[in-house]
Amino acid sequence: MSRFMNPTFGSLKPYVPGEIPRDRTFVKLNTNESPYPPSPGVIASFNAEAAAQQRLYSDPQSRDLNRAIAGSLNVRQENIMTTGGSDETLELAFIAYAQDGIAFADETYGFYRVLSDLHAIDTKIIPLHGDFSLDPADYFHLGRMIVIANPNAPTGIYLKPAQLEPVLQNNPDHIVVIDEAYVDFGNESMVPYIRKYDNLIVVQTFSKSRSMAGARIGYACADAALIEDLEKLRNSRNPYDVSRQSQLAGVKAVEDAVYYREQCMKIVRTREWTMRRLRELGFEGPESYANFVFVRHPAFTGGTIQQKLRERGFLVRHFSDERIKDYNRITIGTQEDMEALCAALEEITGYDKNR
Ligand SMILES: *Cc1c(COP(=O)(O)O)cnc(C)c1O
Repeated sequence: MSRFMNPTFGSLKPYVPGEIPRDRTFVKLNTNESPYPPSPGVIASFNAEAAAQQRLYSDPQSRDLNRAIAGSLNVRQENIMTTGGSDETLELAFIAYAQDGIAFADETYGFYRVLSDLHAIDTKIIPLHGDFSLDPADYFHLGRMIVIANPNAPTGIYLKPAQLEPVLQNNPDHIVVIDEAYVDFGNESMVPYIRKYDNLIVVQTFSKSRSMAGARIGYACADAALIEDLEKLRNSRNPYDVSRQSQLAGVKAVEDAVYYREQCMKIVRTREWTMRRLRELGFEGPESYANFVFVRHPAFTGGTIQQKLRERGFLVRHFSDERIKDYNRITIGTQEDMEALCAALEEITGYDKNR
């Protein structure tokens, strides 16, 4: 830190993204990207005509994209705000509603902690239970904003909307953000509940299930009054946050919903296959509802598994946090990727087929 920087940021620990390798080709299973390409419509939208249009600013209200997203979720356009990735949506919500502090789980998306620190928000950390399950009753009457990732990361554990509804009922004077980055992998969304609860913000992203992590598109779905708050802040900061090309490609992605549903179903099938195979190899971990699994092996440290996989050309995510340091979070790639990964793990763990 230079001597000029505001000392407030002296202890700030920025989010550490998964490694983006440049030296050699790895099977990249460390940042929960999709192994499949974006839809044909999305790919076709990256053309010379669109490139020429880049001289113009993007629509600061993302009207076409918001209308498309609203249509796909069966809500009104005034219930949607689009941003540059859902990390930005989360940040705007934190800025807007955390004046009484914020609560989230001890093991969840790392950005919640980073954003809280950046904006000097008082945090209440609520430990997950021994099996990493989240008890909604732990979140009643907290007197502060709440953020819950559902399915949770990095555990993959999911709660049905009806199980989370009491959190909304028991915090009527505070905002509850449900981060649904992984909802499309076979799960039910809380979006319909925005009609009933004016304190609910559902956050979703194009980064995982729509194979567009590089395009940076995320959005909030909420009561129109909340969207108005968030838009006010967004327009006070970076009104052109969603690029012209991303808005164009985003509309195509929404139109190609059938393609994406198929890719998500493939990923879910591969996830089920992978988990079964990993259990045969002696790994354990919670049943996942996302596009990754979270596993440990009783005979190896998490760091050892990660390192040995790296030597064999696979990148997976390891967190050094004490409670989860035995685990690795492994993104679901193609079926072929996962068969190769399991073969490598068979070798690493010395699994004996004839046992
Ligand atoms: C990946 C992820 C996000 C952020 O995704 P963006 O690329 O910023 O849209 C948000 N929340 C969770 C839980 C995630 O895993």
